[in-house]
Amino acid sequence: MKAPVLYIVIPCYNEQEVLPTTAGMFLAKIESLTEKGKISPDSRILFVNDGSRDDTWKIITELSERDPRYQGIAQSRNRGHQAAVLAGLMECRERCDVTISIDCDGQDDINAMDEMIDAYLDGCEVVYGVRSKRETDTFFKRFTAEGFYKLLSFMGAEVVFNHADYRLISSRVLKEFANFKEVNLFLRGMVPLVGFKSTSVYYERHERIAGESKYPLKKMLALAFDGITSLSVKPIRMVFFAGLIIMMLSFIGILWAVVQALAGGTVSGWASLACIVCFMGGVQCLFLGVIGEYIGKIYLEVKARPRYIIAERTEGMQEDFSVQTAVSWHDTED
Ligand code: UDP
Ligand code: MG
Repeated sequence: MKAPVLYIVIPCYNEQEVLPTTAGMFLAKIESLTEKGKISPDSRILFVNDGSRDDTWKIITELSERDPRYQGIAQSRNRGHQAAVLAGLMECRERCDVTISIDCDGQDDINAMDEMIDAYLDGCEVVYGVRSKRETDTFFKRFTAEGFYKLLSFMGAEVVFNHADYRLISSRVLKEFANFKEVNLFLRGMVPLVGFKSTSVYYERHERIAGESKYPLKKMLALAFDGITSLSVKPIRMVFFAGLIIMMLSFIGILWAVVQALAGGTVSGWASLACIVCFMGGVQCLFLGVIGEYIGKIYLEVKARPRYIIAERTEGMQEDFSVQTAVSWHDTED
């Protein structure tokens, strides 16, 4: 059997400090996998520049001039990590047999790729990279990240525990995945929905080699909301049941007040009444917020704006037709 062509898809946002180091590590991995005969020599590393404001794109183009195994595409602006990974996967799906997406900061152990490829060669179409330990993360990061997975599963979103976006996906799965047109992206929840044979490999998560995390708490919370609301409608159901319970409790309260009044005892206290009114006001706003979140999602989905726009490509990623039209346009201009 011919060895599969692998594309390693790497989103990069302001990563000029770390990219020169990790780029070499990815290339060494491609070389060692090629030597072992597990992947084809035509395999590539595809960087996706996510609208970086530093020299990231310059570094990528220099790398690709030095060695054609480095390739790159640049988004027209920053659209976030999920859109960057999607852009990379969609752009290379017809050029390869299998992809592995990984962050560019060296936190995810690249040696897990050997096991991923082995699993692929054994017939798996999707292989999830799962973090076995998070000892190098700060307590806050570990606590919030693990809480995030627990909250997701409680809210009815099925995800692989402690798996982020380090995963192998075959081009066959990507072909089907291309039919998932949603603009609210939460890849780690969407990929399991495609199905096909899958497995997990475990690795230890290291510290960032250089630079800073681009996922502050605000972005993490946004991702958590997106994850829950794009995978499950359980929050709306929970709102319904919470409303039901509050209504029943209020009914008991009303009965009690009527009985008290008939028995001649008047209920004293303005404060308790004010508290209940304020509390109910809060509950109603919260519930409306949950429903509003879904309406917002529908609004974005209906507009169906493009999920990514590629502004620039390195030579190996040029689309043939765009090169041709550019040439013919200039040729006719005298
Ligand atoms: N990233 C991106 N666009 C963004 C934010 C991050 O492409 O808007 C990339 C970033 O360059 C890195 C990966 O996503 O390769 C993960 O980001 P980071 O390491 O900052 O997140 P953390 O590991 O701290 O969760
Ligand atoms: Mg990171």
